[in-house]
Amino acid sequence: MTASPFTIRKLEAFCYRYPLQTPVVTSFGTMLNRPAVFVRVEDEDGVAGFGEAWCNFPAPGAEHRTRLLNEVLAPAVIGCSAAEPLQLFERLTEGTAVLALQSGEAGPFAQAIAGIDLAVWDLFARREGKPLWRLLGGSGPTIRVYASGINPAGARATAEAALERGHRALKLKIGFELVSDRANLASLRDAVGDGIQAADVNQGWSLDQAVRLAPELASFDLAWLEEPIRADRPWSEWQALRNRIGTPLAAGENIASRAGFTQALGDDVLGVVQLDVAKWGGLSLGVTIAREIRKAGKTFCPHYLGGGIGLLASAHLLAGVGGDGLLEVDANDNPLRDLLSGPVAKISDGAVTLSEAAGIGIQPDFAAIEAHRIW
Ligand SMILES: [Mg+2]
Repeated sequence: MTASPFTIRKLEAFCYRYPLQTPVVTSFGTMLNRPAVFVRVEDEDGVAGFGEAWCNFPAPGAEHRTRLLNEVLAPAVIGCSAAEPLQLFERLTEGTAVLALQSGEAGPFAQAIAGIDLAVWDLFARREGKPLWRLLGGSGPTIRVYASGINPAGARATAEAALERGHRALKLKIGFELVSDRANLASLRDAVGDGIQAADVNQGWSLDQAVRLAPELASFDLAWLEEPIRADRPWSEWQALRNRIGTPLAAGENIASRAGFTQALGDDVLGVVQLDVAKWGGLSLGVTIAREIRKAGKTFCPHYLGGGIGLLASAHLLAGVGGDGLLEVDANDNPLRDLLSGPVAKISDGAVTLSEAAGIGIQPDFAAIEAHRIW
């Protein structure tokens, strides 16, 4: 890329919480509200870009990331010049590495820096006057999506509403009671027909449980089984599981290092790899890893369960690198997502089509979500 250098003159992070009528339930915890941390950067030419930092857990995490952004990272990035986003990403990561280590907060730092990186990529694409998906090398604006975050309670109703909105693929949260998991999978298979169905255990099983329980789900023809065991279990356990079951395995949202992705791509254990660009790596590492995922012959399905800006960035990344993967689109009630996700909120026949507008393609309407702002 031969773009003209830009200098950051302002960075602000904003924290939101949307209260839920129906909590989002996973095998490891429950979300009583939906948080979001949005990031706005502005350069000395007055061009602004928008990003989002992952903040779903633990419950008070959004406020912490917001303060980390505004009080620690903003002073580190203001006045910095770069010719491309990766330079700023590396400078911020290296410049805060000791602090992250000393505080034991590698995750929050990586998430906050990812949020800045998404905003800087948006700014960079706007300066270039190109949609992000084109800047990342995409050949077309249309991507497939799937409805995610489907709770065990009321699963059929959530699935039917998603199908009504245009979805053709569903992912259910499992890892609860086998009887109810099976009943929900049968019900969703019936609802989606020949469409794609996947299941997410959210790291809920031991290897022994996974070896015993996964075959019980074989009849549902799952496209993938996601994080059946903990992401940090020895790779030999993942390999053992892969050798024992026929369903493709998926993981990636809890991989947070280059070495982790190198291992994940090095053999045939994972069929689906799910990098979350707002959680680790931003687009600066994300685009490289996504291309490596495809090169390794695996399916790249961006992980995403936050607000609209990070969802849009993830959509642009998938369109940018291509392949037969699907974008994760949360099926639960969340205006912090729907009011800021532009064309991704308009699903037709299981797909969305991004626009030709520069950057992520929208001017975020923060006024529309002001009632939910915390900071
Ligand atoms: Mg998951």
